[in-house]
Amino acid sequence: MALSLGLFTFTVFRLISFFKLTKTAFPIDRISERLGILALVAFGQSKILRRPMIGLMHALVYWGFLVITVGSMEMIIDGLTGKERVLSFMGPVYSFITTSGDLFAAFIIFACFAFLIRRHVMRVKRFSGVEMTAKSSADATMALSMIIILMVSLIGMNAGYLAVYGPDAAGYYPVAKYLAPMIAPENAHFVHEANWWIHIATIFVFMNILPYSKHFHIFMSMPNVFLTNLKPMTQLANMESVTREVKLMMDPNTAFAPPAEDVPPPERFGVKDVEDVTWKNYTDALTCTECGRCTSVCPANITGKLLSPRKIMIDVRKRMSVKGPGLAKDSNYTDEKSLVGDYISTEELWACTTCNACVQECPVNIDHVSLIVDMRRNLVMEESNAPAELVQMFANIENNGSPWQFSPDDRMNWADGIIAKQ
Ligand code: SF4
Ligand code: SF4
Repeated sequence: MALSLGLFTFTVFRLISFFKLTKTAFPIDRISERLGILALVAFGQSKILRRPMIGLMHALVYWGFLVITVGSMEMIIDGLTGKERVLSFMGPVYSFITTSGDLFAAFIIFACFAFLIRRHVMRVKRFSGVEMTAKSSADATMALSMIIILMVSLIGMNAGYLAVYGPDAAGYYPVAKYLAPMIAPENAHFVHEANWWIHIATIFVFMNILPYSKHFHIFMSMPNVFLTNLKPMTQLANMESVTREVKLMMDPNTAFAPPAEDVPPPERFGVKDVEDVTWKNYTDALTCTECGRCTSVCPANITGKLLSPRKIMIDVRKRMSVKGPGLAKDSNYTDEKSLVGDYISTEELWACTTCNACVQECPVNIDHVSLIVDMRRNLVMEESNAPAELVQMFANIENNGSPWQFSPDDRMNWADGIIAKQ
């Protein structure tokens, strides 16, 4: 336990050092509204359930994990104190927890096998894509296998416990009670102990693997849902520094005033590399489950463009793990690469229609669009890199005050003759 917590603490500090590199996003206010979203989207699994069959299976696995976590806490206390079933004093509540934990464990085994079949036999389309490497698939398979080991050992432990304690056993175990009679009395203690150790050791190994895999969403999805961007989905954030300049220019009293000395000029426009992303962008990237729901509804992806919103999240995560350690030690560190260009191409970024279908569909409320727009801002404002159609439009706005190629003086030409007639 000490080793496991030590390693986990190391990982947490590593992640904190990465978060320190990120920029601010929005204030965490409107707490009651956030709690409502948490209840609906995280605990209620409302977005997952939009696909009823597979959604229900995932939701049951999630709810099962919540119940089983109580049992895991009890095991840790049991292990530390040398006692057996310390929470049994809760009486009927304890029976409810053990009953649901035992049933959920059996269901989770079934669901994990179903998930493995979908991934490896049925080959569901949204599990494929350029970003879905062999490592992604191995990662998912490993996590599902570990969850199966956890659940099998849990039921095995319960069966061993019943075989050892018989009628004196605390709680109720609707699945394990059918297995307990199959255990010979002389083996009962060993079965109980062996499964207890397998279960607890797997928990400690699993919790240290999770932060380096897509299954980190087990930890991250609830905080990320709580930290949802509460602005309307289509509302893009203005760049404060640019807004301020425009306001100054529009105000005749300040149009020619020298720049305010207390406001430092922006170091960067938009997002070029991983140190330019906000803490919310990075939280999103860590939370991504790689489920592919966003990509499966993305009109750009569906029509054959390179863009995959899932890949954007995976790339941010990947880039931070490559550049983050160097940046955490030296803020000037560079490896001569950048997120935009080396990981995410301009072609991908300009394919986005900003329709927000990905945001709408993501079960953990990830906001892809604000990040895509910020990367495009960098391309436009620092690299002058935009599709020809947009460059023409920018020039028109600058010269004519409208996106069109006509002088504002000609705006009423269409009414020539009509007005004269009247
Ligand atoms: S907002 Fe962009 S990335 Fe998201 S679904 Fe629409 S086109 Fe795809
Ligand atoms: S961004 Fe959301 S919808 Fe897309 S793969 Fe990640 S978790 Fe799934």
